[in-house]
Amino acid sequence: MRLLVVGGAGYIGSHMVKRCAAAGHEVVTLDNFSTGHRDALTAGGLIEADLADRDALGRAFAAGRFDAVMHFASFIQVAESVRDPARYYRNNYANTLNLLEAMLAHRVRRFVFSSSAAVFGEPQRVPIDEAHPAYPINPYGRSKRMVEETLADFDRAYGLRSVALRYFNAAGADPEGELGERHEPETHLVPLVLRAASGRSPAVSVFGRDYDTPDGTCIRDYIHVADLCEAHLLALDFLAARDRSAAFNLGNGNGFSVQEVIDAVRRVTGRAVKIVDAPRREGDPARLVADARAARAVLGWRPRYHALDTIVAHAWAWERRQAGLE
Ligand code: UDP
Repeated sequence: MRLLVVGGAGYIGSHMVKRCAAAGHEVVTLDNFSTGHRDALTAGGLIEADLADRDALGRAFAAGRFDAVMHFASFIQVAESVRDPARYYRNNYANTLNLLEAMLAHRVRRFVFSSSAAVFGEPQRVPIDEAHPAYPINPYGRSKRMVEETLADFDRAYGLRSVALRYFNAAGADPEGELGERHEPETHLVPLVLRAASGRSPAVSVFGRDYDTPDGTCIRDYIHVADLCEAHLLALDFLAARDRSAAFNLGNGNGFSVQEVIDAVRRVTGRAVKIVDAPRREGDPARLVADARAARAVLGWRPRYHALDTIVAHAWAWERRQAGLE
């Protein structure tokens, strides 16, 4: 297939570009490099453009003859979305609408969307399956949910078929060591604990030890970026075979606490990690764990790197490079 990967220079997008090329697809990245990295592009073509630029999108699709689009380009910081919702609705929602309209104008009707567990808001039950009510509690989550609802409307009205993939906690790095996570600022737990291990930062903060969990720290479902990429390839197969739209939750189904992640980093790296206890972060539920049985049953998804130590080991190889410890 000829695939357009929007946000292909970012964390998950860059792993996807590499995986698509390895699977024999022709791949073109569209990115504005607002947060992505040029040296994260390991394969395929590049269109340097902004999703706000509808003319540029039109030109990209006129020249592209794409069979499907994967969309990874979005802002991801929940706290920032609360402070500046316009930025999130503009980038994550309005720009996605531009992309969808450009697809329609050029008769590209297959779309894989990077959604988030944030669409579910405060969990009413755990693990969270696809039938769980979706009441997001911050603008980031709402921007993702609004796209999902738009996709349902576009399916009915225009026959645009999509798969929305709700990632739980994406983590890890390219098992071959070529790619990894490079957010600036970094807010995610795994890379922050690894920075404390490598010496790039003095310590990691633990946001709350008084949650209703066995060790008092929050439980999350960490899923390897390579396994997320496999789900995207399977979503393309689904769209080719099934002529309908769907949404799937993607996680390990295993929860690990913040303390367990820190312990895993100490174990895998053999290094000390200094901890600073900090207050709870606003909006953090105690437990978020996916019920990903639908992705297994319908897509045939089989996460490979489900062991937390493997996720940490791959991310650690990447962090060593970033810290110059090679
Ligand atoms: N967390 C933490 N210290 C940090 C960053 C995160 O204790 O420096 C906690 C956070 O409160 C949450 C978990 O780690 O319970 C995962 O947070 P992250 O930001 O990685 O992902 P999220 O679950 O917010 O999508």
